[in-house]
Amino acid sequence: MAPIDIVVIGGSFAGLHIAHSVLRDVPDAKVTLINPSTSFFWNIAAPRIVAKSTAFRPEEYLLPIKDAFANYRADAFEFIPGTATAIETTAKTVTVTPNEGEAKTLSYDYLVIASGSTTSATTGSLTGTAIPFKQSGHNNMEQLIEAAQGHIAGAKEIVIGGAGPIGIELAGELAEAVEQSGNVGKVSITIVSATERVLPMLKSSASAAARKMLEHKNVKVVTSKRVIGVETPADDSASWTVNLEGGDKLSADLYIPTTGVTPNNSFIPAQLLDKNGWVTVNKEMRVQSTDGSSLPIFAAGDITNNSMRLSFKATEQAQVAAANLKADIVGGASIKSYNQGDSITMVVPVGEAGGTGQIFGVVPFSFMVRMIKGKHYFIDKAVGALAGKA
Ligand SMILES: Cc1cc2nc3c(=O)[nH]c(=O)nc-3n(C[C@H](O)[C@H](O)[C@H](O)COP(=O)(O)OP(=O)(O)OC[C@H]3O[C@@H](n4cnc5c(N)ncnc54)[C@H](O)[C@@H]3O)c2cc1C
Repeated sequence: MAPIDIVVIGGSFAGLHIAHSVLRDVPDAKVTLINPSTSFFWNIAAPRIVAKSTAFRPEEYLLPIKDAFANYRADAFEFIPGTATAIETTAKTVTVTPNEGEAKTLSYDYLVIASGSTTSATTGSLTGTAIPFKQSGHNNMEQLIEAAQGHIAGAKEIVIGGAGPIGIELAGELAEAVEQSGNVGKVSITIVSATERVLPMLKSSASAAARKMLEHKNVKVVTSKRVIGVETPADDSASWTVNLEGGDKLSADLYIPTTGVTPNNSFIPAQLLDKNGWVTVNKEMRVQSTDGSSLPIFAAGDITNNSMRLSFKATEQAQVAAANLKADIVGGASIKSYNQGDSITMVVPVGEAGGTGQIFGVVPFSFMVRMIKGKHYFIDKAVGALAGKA
């Protein structure tokens, strides 16, 4: 019997989970996984990785994808390092440009879109300097991370745009790196928030705690000012100018934007996207087309129109998508559904010693944040996520 061809686009939290789940439970499946980087990036730790080059070893945060699938039948799994460039829903094909060799077209019985999102710091689209908070879209993560660590280590005036969790974590790590390298007073770090308080999505006591911890670490906190533009210097000898709403200007030799995410959707047909470019799914994680056709396509993670773009939500969605995909193939199993809920769970370290956040509506003590996340940024969970066990 011919195998059932399942093509998974994206090898991160969502795609890896679904690929493993299908391979474990569907004996007739042939899974083809496409991802530009040959490594899975534990980007949860990115604020510390870019700020402190020796805090973790590259082998802890860049893990080879192919090795994690070595235990399946050789003919049941194929990893294509490369990029999906087009989907034809009528022909049920995906076009792929491999990192090496000619473009090829793959047929699928089922397709999984798990291509996630990116950030302007990752692409360097605003400043020309990439600070990789996510996978880059190329097979170059180690070089990109090393270059970012170098830019940061050499900077004397750093401005961070945005005081959400990534901005706050980054500011805490940078300030601590300055302390640890004996450069207090020689490097300035400023964080700019468009809102009145930092971490505006959390309770006000969490915002106040984060601000106090940052100021204690000599970080300048500017609130109620939106960054409206950055003028990059014509040559490396001059400073950048960060323009704020109301006319204020900050000088910087490194500006790191931390707000906003954009969908990795360049290869996805428009009829599968909502008006903001995210893939429209129903509660069963089945992709919905504007023409109403029923498609053998599932999506999970950041790329979907579910608004909570967090790794544990990507995994929850992947569990639902995988269960329903498997039910479609083997029959019998109950249909699962995803509801992101409305409660915010977030743990935000401000350096290694503590931090703040919100867990089931409660702001945790700083020492709890240290124990939960601040010590290690969950780095020991990377192997499990790669193995689809998270
Ligand atoms: C700095 C930072 C810190 C974070 N910290 C936390 C945290 O502490 N806790 C938390 O829950 N969440 C956190 N998040 C959010 C978390 O990173 C995302 O929710 C998660 O990465 C989403 O996983 P995903 O699998 O949906 O997609 P992604 O991780 O975005 O991965 C998508 C994959 O698809 C690949 N891809 C894209 N286009 C194509 C294509 N055309 N062809 C083939 N492959 C493609 C990409 O290269 C990538 O490997 C953080 C995010 C950032 C930026």
